[in-house]
Amino acid sequence: MSDKIQMNTPVVEIDGDEMTRVIWAWVKEILIEPFVDLKTVYFDLGLDERERTKDAVTTQAAEAIKEYGVGVKCATITPNEERVQEYGLSEMYKSPNGTIRAILDGTVFRAPVLAKGIVPYIPTWKRPITIARHAYGDIYRNAEFPAGAGSRAELVLTAADGTEKRLSIHSFDSSGGIVQGVHNTDASIGSFARACMNYAADTKQDLWFGAKDTISKTYDRRFRDIFDEIFAAEYREAFSEAGIEYSYTLIDDAIARVIRSEGGFVWACKNYDGDVMSDMVATAFGSLAMMTSVLVSPQGYYEYEAAHGTVQRHFYKHAKGEPTSTNSVATIFAWTGALKKRAEIDGLSELAAFSGKLEGAVLDTIAGGIMTGDLFAISTLPEKRQAGTKEFLLETAKLIRA
Ligand code: NAP
Ligand code: MG
Repeated sequence: MSDKIQMNTPVVEIDGDEMTRVIWAWVKEILIEPFVDLKTVYFDLGLDERERTKDAVTTQAAEAIKEYGVGVKCATITPNEERVQEYGLSEMYKSPNGTIRAILDGTVFRAPVLAKGIVPYIPTWKRPITIARHAYGDIYRNAEFPAGAGSRAELVLTAADGTEKRLSIHSFDSSGGIVQGVHNTDASIGSFARACMNYAADTKQDLWFGAKDTISKTYDRRFRDIFDEIFAAEYREAFSEAGIEYSYTLIDDAIARVIRSEGGFVWACKNYDGDVMSDMVATAFGSLAMMTSVLVSPQGYYEYEAAHGTVQRHFYKHAKGEPTSTNSVATIFAWTGALKKRAEIDGLSELAAFSGKLEGAVLDTIAGGIMTGDLFAISTLPEKRQAGTKEFLLETAKLIRA
């Protein structure tokens, strides 16, 4: 038996594309495998392998997460016209993240990594703000029309027994316009509420939810009511034991409170609010490259990843043999998140301790003034230097050994 830290059950390892694929291999080689007898079930979601398997590998990877419970994923290319040319694809495959999310029926939680010298634009923010985005329905599954002058729009709902309910939306006069229909389902809102409440209880953070129920007295009100009912019936005790709170407030008030807060809570957002606010929060905390992301399914499956993409521009430099300074923090934290969850499920205290130590080494490296270019540009540390992509990992490894 080696003196490395042992694992029982593997994590599902999902490899990806471009610069993050390069970083992926280095993170394992430099920061994990020297210390951990790493057990993974490996799936290659790089575009070549997706093409070879006609994308079956993506579904297999998602199914494996159901089997093993914990996965870690590298960023992957979502093909567009240019990528179809570049990689000679026979089809424009769908976003792997979309496919995996649909199979696991999960909610995505995004949280920034805070490091010394990287100061949030909002000076009161001291702790991370985790955004939970509802990933179903509303305008993302809409039906919409342009409406000509003189047209009349109505909302028609046909019940199971065939009876119709009608509501006038608008009669367009000399000016035409636009009209849109949106929906959501009680089941989807309910799983979203449970995912948020589980995550808040797990991480011992307050949960905030905001919608616009003063204006949308049926649609947004339904979100509020479902959250309230599920909280009262299933989570009130667990929250009070954990010393945390659930609160609902109007979305505009929520934003005002978020800005004045110190952070350290989970902010549940409707689909559109989450789309927009996660970019705002990531930017305000300093860098997209410091954003981590975890997909949590209602059955308790977890998939960890970096929130950023494959960093294409850096990869083209790397492929030409030019030096790069690409930030690996979110990728490293995806690995530590997955290993910590594995350790928690399997009761492996050494693996949990190692994950914490690796995170500490990353933060201490940055606090010690060694960082990649994106952080170098915004760090307030008086003494700092820019490290190359691999150099940052080697410096971090030194602190693990120290
Ligand atoms: P991106 O890869 O996140 O990069 C956008 C820009 O943000 C980069 O060009 C870089 O700015 C900066 N950046 C992002 N991550 C960084 C890091 N780790 N270190 C330093 N700088 C970083 O987004 P994109 O260029 O829009 O997309 C590229 C590919 O990624 C696309 O094919 C897309 O489909 C895919 N994508 C995948 C995922 C995923 O798998 N979760 C998510 C988003 C996008 P500078 O160039 O100015 O240095
Ligand atoms: Mg967005």
